[in-house]
Amino acid sequence: METIKVIIAGARGRMGKEAVYMVQKAENLQLAAVLDHKYNGQMLSELEGFAGIDVPIFTNINECFSEVEADVLIDLTTPETGYIHTKTALEHNIRPVVGTTGFTEEQLKELKELAEEKRLGCIIAPNFAVGAVLMMKFSEMAAKYFQDVEIIELHHDKKLDAPSGTAVKTAQMIAGVREAKQQGHPEEKETMKGARGAEMEGMHIHSVRLPGLIAHQQVMFGADGQTLTIRHDSYNRASFMSGVKVCVETVMKVETLIYGMENILD
Ligand code: NAP
Repeated sequence: METIKVIIAGARGRMGKEAVYMVQKAENLQLAAVLDHKYNGQMLSELEGFAGIDVPIFTNINECFSEVEADVLIDLTTPETGYIHTKTALEHNIRPVVGTTGFTEEQLKELKELAEEKRLGCIIAPNFAVGAVLMMKFSEMAAKYFQDVEIIELHHDKKLDAPSGTAVKTAQMIAGVREAKQQGHPEEKETMKGARGAEMEGMHIHSVRLPGLIAHQQVMFGADGQTLTIRHDSYNRASFMSGVKVCVETVMKVETLIYGMENILD
């Protein structure tokens, strides 16, 4: 079994910390370094919560990618930083696995072109939870039979982007199969801005932000005399880690950018 050498960006964060623990536990993965915007030159083991994990911390991305021998970058940072990290990793022949959400269509297109030009795998997954991927797939199935749908995504109040990448991805998958429809009353008027949420192809997406939540989504379909609700809940961030591991293993075997874990799972 080949060992895959991994750099993690955002290792001190809520997702990044879980990713560090997952990589440490996995027999086929090895943590080579972490990329941060603080603590340059220190060892990760010097920081709280990482006792015994002796890998260097870099704040200069080019230095990190040139000095450290690595196969994969796991990025769990912020949209602006994540984009720069992903692009720079590809330029250094390192394969990105990106959980960071909030990339624009234009950025995704540019990264796909770069991955294909370099013949490198790159996986960008707005949701690493297997249950969430199934929720999206089941919603896509249901959308063939139900034209009317509202997506309600619920997250913790530290989340920077809205709507969530998962909600946007779900809406895109639904739009691909559903007969186009402008939902609601044709003369519907918001008396308070935002009451009907964001609109995408005639569907509505609502973003709830509350402390106590982690990552949740409910897709509600309606038709004459019936509703169908498909819901997924992530109660902790460990729920994402088996998906991260699958992506790290898969990114080594592909030569293009894959957007969404639903394109990896059978
Ligand atoms: P978080 O706790 O805020 O962690 C982000 C980490 O990135 C922090 O340690 C932050 O450091 C660090 N960071 C910020 N700027 C940086 C830079 N320039 N270079 C290196 N590190 C930098 O956020 P989170 O909840 O872990 O989420 C991280 C990302 O994953 C978000 O985009 C979120 O939407 C996404 N997410 C994805 C999934 C999925 O399944 N794909 C699931 C949950 C979350 P400071 O704290 O010092 O700023």
